[in-house]
Amino acid sequence: MIIHKDFSLNPYNTFGLDIVANRLAIISTVDDLHALYDNGELNKSKILILSKGSNILFRGHVTGLVLLNEIQGKEVIDEDEENIFLKVSAGESWTDLVDFTVKNGWGGLENMTDIPGMVGAAPIQNIGAYGAELKDVMVNLEAFDLLTGKIVEFTNSDCNFGYRSSIFKTTHKNRYFITNVIIKLSKEPKINLSYKPLAEGFAGKLVNEVTIKDVSRKISEIRNSKLPDPDKFNNAGSFFKNPLVNNNKLKNLKLVYSSIPSYPADNKYHKVPAAWLIEQCGWKGKRIGNVGVYEKQALVLINYGNATGKEILEFANSIQQSVYKKFGVSLEFEVNVV
Ligand code: NAP
Repeated sequence: MIIHKDFSLNPYNTFGLDIVANRLAIISTVDDLHALYDNGELNKSKILILSKGSNILFRGHVTGLVLLNEIQGKEVIDEDEENIFLKVSAGESWTDLVDFTVKNGWGGLENMTDIPGMVGAAPIQNIGAYGAELKDVMVNLEAFDLLTGKIVEFTNSDCNFGYRSSIFKTTHKNRYFITNVIIKLSKEPKINLSYKPLAEGFAGKLVNEVTIKDVSRKISEIRNSKLPDPDKFNNAGSFFKNPLVNNNKLKNLKLVYSSIPSYPADNKYHKVPAAWLIEQCGWKGKRIGNVGVYEKQALVLINYGNATGKEILEFANSIQQSVYKKFGVSLEFEVNVV
């Protein structure tokens, strides 16, 4: 295995920061991981697993060993009358995977069209959009245990999926390199138009007149109208998570801010759109030096020029502070800061 020295991570972080990894190995197969383990490389220094860097903010150069996930491949491993079982390697693009399944008429991923990033990152935060989540389709996954050098299988329930969360973000953080995911798709897709922008997009149509191709196309349209073109603006998508606010707290907030949007998350909590909170604090479209909030979507931070990771982080902290000051709600980062 080649370990590259002082490898530029500029193409591997969508904020476009000029960051260097002191040591980096390109992982193309699971055997590459075994080789690194056998050479004792995985316990020498801190490990960072990276794909396209669409959800990461680097504070500075990376001193440990970066494992660049480029494991490719997808295959149908089983099917029955109703379902297709697809095994997908971690280094496949999520967007390409969704397009592939939609083209084949297999339902389940269409509401998650155009979420950036790689398949291996999807279980970590249980990605989801417009009423669908990875946990609805994932059967199990395989991961390489960086500590023991063994391949371990995790079932859907082992992953303890929650709202944008799993054991790979909490109790098992940084321990596993996810190598592939098995998903179950439907040959007779059920169309989910539960989210308002989607329902509005198909107003006047009956649900059985809408196909998964229509849904996927509509979601692309919605996203393109709200999100910046990554070729023009360096950004990492939603910087903040939509907070879960407990029901009592929401009741009090509604007394002061009657128009605050909210959606039940479970018995005790409601989701509140972070974008609404940020906008109410006057941040939407605001720019300080090289960093700003995108004018059409307040969740997205933009590197307008040669911002450093530190500048972006300070800007994000200022947003957190003003939201907390006004609403008493703590915004968490969706982006990983390393
Ligand atoms: P949005 O559609 O404006 O929604 C904002 C918030 O309201 C989210 O918490 C969303 O829940 C909730 N919400 C809206 N309509 C709802 C409904 N009918 N039922 C239940 N909850 C509802 O959000 P956005 O920022 O423009 O993003 C669009 C979609 O992409 C959202 O689903 C968002 O979660 C998703 N997204 C996912 C990722 C990711 O997985 N990494 C990153 C960015 C955005 P949900 O969050 O449960 O949808």
